[in-house]
Amino acid sequence: MVAAAKGRTSAEVLEAIKAGVKIIGENYLQEAESHIGMIGTHAKWHFIGALQQNKIKTVAKLFDVVETLDSTEAARLLDKYCAQLGKVMPVLIEINSGREPQKSGVLPEAAESLINQIYCFKHIRVMGLMTMGPRFGNPEDSRPYFVATRHLFEMIGSWRIPNISMRFLSMGMTNSYQVAIQEGANIVRIGTKIFE
Ligand SMILES: *Cc1c(COP(=O)(O)O)cnc(C)c1O
Repeated sequence: MVAAAKGRTSAEVLEAIKAGVKIIGENYLQEAESHIGMIGTHAKWHFIGALQQNKIKTVAKLFDVVETLDSTEAARLLDKYCAQLGKVMPVLIEINSGREPQKSGVLPEAAESLINQIYCFKHIRVMGLMTMGPRFGNPEDSRPYFVATRHLFEMIGSWRIPNISMRFLSMGMTNSYQVAIQEGANIVRIGTKIFE
């Protein structure tokens, strides 16, 4: 479980960690910098925000996992900065499973070509997929998007591409995590239900 901590204070994040949370998800770098400065290695830090190019250098430095990789250019930059830092960053490919034009992530049919362009990078390691899916009132409405993402996850895993493993499937939030787990998620990202 990743505790999605956007908008929370370092004190709230620390309280969650004391209650047993091991992984914190952050969307915003300013927040992440202050939380990580204060809490550091008492948690693992997953980047779950939009991976804009001007942020990638800082993301490379601060985070343990990047869940939102969605372009070759972002992968190239992340690889470059991780090389400078002497680290190998585990990354998840973000899938825009709802095909929503305003959302980040690659369309499901574009995941193969993205992976083919980035599997050779030595300082990032693709370890799975992440999806948000459209937001619904009824979590059952999320199910088809989670099923489709899991099918893609299994298909890519079956290709046995060097340097790529399909180990982590990150899907489901406060409203939808139960459906997501039923459909194969092994990472859920929960904000509201933990912090409110
Ligand atoms: C905020 C956020 C979550 C958690 O959402 P809740 O509905 O508060 O559980 C999960 N994933 C991402 C990428 C988020 O930005």
